[in-house]
Amino acid sequence: MQTPQKIAVVGSGLVGSLLAIYLRKAGHTVHVYDRSPDIRQIEFSGRSINLAMSNRGWKALDGVGVGDAVREIAIPMDKRAIHLVDKLNFQAYGQEGEAIYSISRGLLNRKMIDLAEDAGAKFFFEQKIWDVTLADATLHIGESERGAWEEKKYDMVFGADGAFSRIRHRMQRQSMFDYSQEFLKIGYKELNIPANEDGTHKLDPNSFHIWPRGEYMLIALANLDGSFTCTLFMPFEGKNSFEELKDIQLVETFFAKNFPDSIDVIPKLTEDFFKNPTSTLVTMKCFPWTYEDKIALIGDACHAIVPFYGQGMNSGFEDISILNDMMQLYGNDWKTILSEYQLSRKPNADAIAELSYRNFMEMSSKTADEKFLLQKKIEKLFSDKYPDLWIPLYSRVTFSDRPYSEALAIGDAQNKIMESVLKMNDIESNWDSVEVENKILELLQKQ
Ligand SMILES: Cc1cc2nc3c(=O)[nH]c(=O)nc-3n(C[C@H](O)[C@H](O)[C@H](O)COP(=O)(O)OP(=O)(O)OC[C@H]3O[C@@H](n4cnc5c(N)ncnc54)[C@H](O)[C@@H]3O)c2cc1C
Repeated sequence: MQTPQKIAVVGSGLVGSLLAIYLRKAGHTVHVYDRSPDIRQIEFSGRSINLAMSNRGWKALDGVGVGDAVREIAIPMDKRAIHLVDKLNFQAYGQEGEAIYSISRGLLNRKMIDLAEDAGAKFFFEQKIWDVTLADATLHIGESERGAWEEKKYDMVFGADGAFSRIRHRMQRQSMFDYSQEFLKIGYKELNIPANEDGTHKLDPNSFHIWPRGEYMLIALANLDGSFTCTLFMPFEGKNSFEELKDIQLVETFFAKNFPDSIDVIPKLTEDFFKNPTSTLVTMKCFPWTYEDKIALIGDACHAIVPFYGQGMNSGFEDISILNDMMQLYGNDWKTILSEYQLSRKPNADAIAELSYRNFMEMSSKTADEKFLLQKKIEKLFSDKYPDLWIPLYSRVTFSDRPYSEALAIGDAQNKIMESVLKMNDIESNWDSVEVENKILELLQKQ
């Protein structure tokens, strides 16, 4: 147990509320501030954006004993269902029994706040934080940026206030603070597949559905109420873009041509298409993440990434696991705890940002590409036989808690090997031969 501190967490999102539980269990007084109303009081269908939870997320939840409460609202997905224009393929995600889990972000956030309150954290909603004094961890709270502010002093402040963090904003004004922000030229829009009349799902709920079409793609994840949340990712401008789909007729024709099997299951396609916003995707990197023993950024506030590896929340939860490891190691020495936390996490945050950026191509193009599917088959066969020699990149990211930076480096080395293997004569018919197996073993030895 550490000496109790008075700690403020800015942001009651997924990361802020889980962090609050960890800090409470370590014996601290925890106040969580959010500029939004209490998500538990807002009416929503429970259908909004859903997230894929994987190993790193579960590890952080289980680490503080709340994993099982969250499992109650999670739907396992053990495979991709790849909807080509003329057929449907399935591709297992990992080994037997391995799955990622579809969870409604809204339901999860409500549950996390309940759990944090049960653990003794105090929440203050509709409280906008405009600034923080770094040297003495004082929050400046008020109705508007130019109005009167109230001051609240803490021993320590965590900025879990998301990609456009105000706490980071203050840190950015120090010298030697690195910061970059890059918007993708691809945006996204949510659509909905309602449940059947009897409440069952219209598609297999235990699959992550993808309609890969190159520069654009549609995905769908199941909700508990029998519906699916679909997300259409596509460029803002140019060919096959949001800009092109200007009217009802164009949207209907586009979906009928490119996603023919989605037509019957998305009854309110055009209504939702024009009602729902087109949102942006951003990668944000910065450093340092901490200030002395007073301030630390966590989650999207210090590493916002694009969603194509399903790791944004998972990596934010892993930040908390690592912070907790440092708390166990360094006791009351918060300066060292925060410094070691950021040194450990930064290279991994950069690695998952890179992997997430690259994975758009894997999801939107390669899942429909014969060569890529052949590569996956060869890798699977080899890794089933030599599980210690070959863990596929997706599994390293999703089903392990080894560092993301290690996954990136090993993944690149594996890709080099597979490039050589795919060049072998008659690889299409010899993919499961001893010759291919020996070639991989030989190339692995050379590394
Ligand atoms: C389309 C899409 C799909 C995604 N899919 C996945 C997925 O499958 N798996 C996955 O792991 N991740 C996914 N993510 C990423 C995930 O949603 C985020 O990484 C995660 O929500 C970040 O949590 P957070 O708590 O750090 O920040 P946020 O969720 O942004 O929460 C920040 C909180 O801070 C509050 N706040 C902000 N500013 C202030 C202020 N000035 N004063 C007071 N309060 C403030 C906000 O109201 C909010 O409640 C996806 C993201 C997108 C956009």
